[in-house]
Amino acid sequence: MPERSVAELLELDRRHVWHPYGPMPGRQEPLVVESASGVRLRLADGSGELVDGMSSWWSAIHGYNHPVLNEAAREQLGRMSHVMFGGLTHEPAVRLAKLLVDMSPDGLEHVFLADSGSVSVEVAVKMCLQYWRSLGRPGKQRLLTWRGGYHGDTWQPMSVCDPEGGMHELWTGVLQRQVFADPPPAEYAEAYAEHLRSLIGRHAEELAAVIVEPVVQGAGGMRFHSPAYLRVLREACDAHDVLLVFDEIATGFGRTGALFAAEHAAVTPDVMCVGKALTGGYLTMAATLCTARVADGISRGEVPVLAHGPTFMGNPLAAAVACASIELLLGQDWRTEVERIEAGLREGLAAASDLPGVKDVRVLGAIGVVQLDHAVDMKAATEAAVREGVWLRPFRDLIYTMPPFVTGDADLARITRAVCAAAREG
Ligand code: PMP
Repeated sequence: MPERSVAELLELDRRHVWHPYGPMPGRQEPLVVESASGVRLRLADGSGELVDGMSSWWSAIHGYNHPVLNEAAREQLGRMSHVMFGGLTHEPAVRLAKLLVDMSPDGLEHVFLADSGSVSVEVAVKMCLQYWRSLGRPGKQRLLTWRGGYHGDTWQPMSVCDPEGGMHELWTGVLQRQVFADPPPAEYAEAYAEHLRSLIGRHAEELAAVIVEPVVQGAGGMRFHSPAYLRVLREACDAHDVLLVFDEIATGFGRTGALFAAEHAAVTPDVMCVGKALTGGYLTMAATLCTARVADGISRGEVPVLAHGPTFMGNPLAAAVACASIELLLGQDWRTEVERIEAGLREGLAAASDLPGVKDVRVLGAIGVVQLDHAVDMKAATEAAVREGVWLRPFRDLIYTMPPFVTGDADLARITRAVCAAAREG
């Protein structure tokens, strides 16, 4: 039993705790979670359980309290939970790096174990800028991305998030000015491909890299686009001496129906960021992978080191759980499970298309999105989902779900009913 009542916890939370994108002092009333198991979150107020439609923001792909991941954590805890990574190494980090190299697109060979998705993007950008500096081209220091993206909340990633109406608009003018292409259309259009080619060509002398979320733009609007654009980017980057970075933090580890979204286009980026589902949502860890070309380029520079080394880099506990999570994923027919979820989402969300105020319904892999023609009333939509026994976190004009891959058919039907209820009432 918790020492403090739910009311006391909420009062202290309101007074002292900052939540993501939350006001301080808190004006929102969060739900207090007591525990989580499988796909269910147990609430501390005794009102019961909610089916998790969010996988804790793309990460808990195997569900919560999983015996295999628990055992991996327990086992590693008995050896060492952390040790500094400078001058030392250990089996979980080495094994994780090897697993990541083996499972990711061919050619990605070197792994930097970062401690959050945003930091993995910072590291990716640093790698690219340093690569060109090492090659005697220090003028190549800007980034190109397409509007509508999201790459994290730390300084450099903020500069490549959607600049208009995005989450970091407050900082326009303070952040580094990047080059923005229009958002990619859902279907392939030669005119848009040409727009990308010409922007890359025009800015090539100052561009270090193009950075994009492949196939799915997540937190910037939950938009899907044709994988063919990734090939266009690869060709244009090669033609103009620009590096290509894929941010697979949300899309990685099977979410879109491929292990990594880059596979939909059979493209290898020069640098790739992963995070979120890397540890099955258990612990904070992310990684930046790069090719031998990038690593060798940096090593040949006047300053031949990548000057980045967070205290918790390569954390053994997180690495051990990440290894277990990846092995669990690869050891099962994950593709069939994601296809099953995709079919369930398509069937269940079809009903949303006819609701008043619904502009679009889209599904890809284990991702389902209902877009409204108005800003969602977050409180009303969340409460409607909770009444259906489901946890969702709508934002802007979107009600969306990315359930754990282990969600059974009955729970999946419950999730899609909840999305429809939230769309009706939000
Ligand atoms: N890139 C993408 C595509 C993301 O979805 C996120 C997280 N929403 C990030 C980067 C940042 O990751 P983190 O929240 O772990 O810093």
